[in-house]
Amino acid sequence: MSDHWKIIVWLVAGLIIGGALQLFADGNPASPIGLKDAKDSLVVASVPQSSKIELGIPVVALIKNKGRNDEERLAFRSMNDYEGALKSCDIGAIIWYETKTGQVFQASLKLDQKSDRASYLRPFTFFADIFLRLLKMLIVPMILTSIISGVVGLGSGKDLRRLGTKTFIYYVATSMIAIVTGLVLVNLIRPGEGASLGLAASDKFDNLSDSSFVDVLIRMVPENVFAAFGANASMLQVIFFSLLFGYFILKTKDPHRTTMTSFFEAAFEVMMKLAAGVLLLIPYGVFCLLVKVVGQTGFAVFKPLGLYMLTVLAALAIHCCFTLPIVLRVFAKINPLRWIKAVAPALITAFSTSSSSMTLPVTMETVEKRGGVSNKVVSFVQPLGATINMDGTALYECIGVIFLAQYYAGIQDFDLTLTNQLQVVVMALLASIGAAGIPSAGLIMMVTILGALKLPVEGAALLLAVDRPLDMLRTVTNVFSDTCGSAVVATSEGETILAVQDKGASKL
Ligand code: ASP
Repeated sequence: MSDHWKIIVWLVAGLIIGGALQLFADGNPASPIGLKDAKDSLVVASVPQSSKIELGIPVVALIKNKGRNDEERLAFRSMNDYEGALKSCDIGAIIWYETKTGQVFQASLKLDQKSDRASYLRPFTFFADIFLRLLKMLIVPMILTSIISGVVGLGSGKDLRRLGTKTFIYYVATSMIAIVTGLVLVNLIRPGEGASLGLAASDKFDNLSDSSFVDVLIRMVPENVFAAFGANASMLQVIFFSLLFGYFILKTKDPHRTTMTSFFEAAFEVMMKLAAGVLLLIPYGVFCLLVKVVGQTGFAVFKPLGLYMLTVLAALAIHCCFTLPIVLRVFAKINPLRWIKAVAPALITAFSTSSSSMTLPVTMETVEKRGGVSNKVVSFVQPLGATINMDGTALYECIGVIFLAQYYAGIQDFDLTLTNQLQVVVMALLASIGAAGIPSAGLIMMVTILGALKLPVEGAALLLAVDRPLDMLRTVTNVFSDTCGSAVVATSEGETILAVQDKGASKL
């Protein structure tokens, strides 16, 4: 069975088992704070450690869906009323407590750990947590080896430097356009706003890191590289160091340069193998995550997830059907349709493997033989593009992170400022450069962006559940953009590529 099918089968199994647990196993919400009877109301008797709520204040009501059209206030005077009110709320929902003086404070409803359903869910949660930790384990070594080996691939000869500069400008420019497309769509569609994803807010979290853009730039420079390696949230610092390190390998004389180049190329190969090993677990990881999510919160989460998927699909479609064809037309002077036909075998392989790296041999062959680009350009632009140039991944990072940030902004009551969004843009670009060309690499990078913004990384686990179809399509976009890169660079080097020679080409 192909990988895709395997994932779909396990995904459906996860939905069924999660749904069955939701229907047949008892599960009450646990009261987020301890209350006890006092004269004519209940008062706070115990609170979670990090909470700011004061003990002893009288609480008179519970508010559901605060600030939305379906806001509902459930007043209570006794423990019985309170328990009834609590039972009418969904697990994972955010509720507000209202005090006698009219103040409100917020809490998220978790499943009562003593309930039947919680005990059935425990093994699935256990495996899902291990799976997530394995993904996080890959982050730092993956970024480090992928970027360093990518930069040393740029080479340092004069010819290579010229090609390298052009290629790099193409990569960054198309990735930025892709990200901005994603940013505009996610702000227009707003899939995360008011969504009920069942993800609990984190107690430790007050606000999105609201530092200015200058601060973000300053913090990109690590004070201590090993401290940066030690924290998944310091992804920008790791990327910054890797870019510099790669650049200075190129400046070093032989034999050290060759030694370091082959060392990092070898290390990258090993990391790709290791990641592929971990990613073999994806079907089972998806299964456990879905049992956990559906078992706890039901199916309501799929509506916003569907909207999120549509947003990504629309952005990918705009990039592939408008942006890249225009780039081809203007900078490579070729008919985009003829180019798509020429590189179709690579696009189909990308779709079926979800991996730019696995597709690389087919891409090189098709761009050279069917696209008519010289071997010199192909062998430079394509391998680099497979790990560095990922337009589809870039826009997906941006949409995924902002989707989750929109959700958390709603439940935690903070604004998603322009500075926050600019931070996401920079991180999405760097994440797409740092992501390896293997299935789900984009999702691994998303964990690091969420961490850097101090958003709970559990959100990425939820997106993993519906990641594969998006991965197939963003890989097609990544590979298509790589092939367009070859066409643009080849034309700028004075090559006449196949599609240009076709008379029909000039008539689009
Ligand atoms: N699978 C993608 C690729 O290989 C990377 C990603 O997960 O976004 O291009």
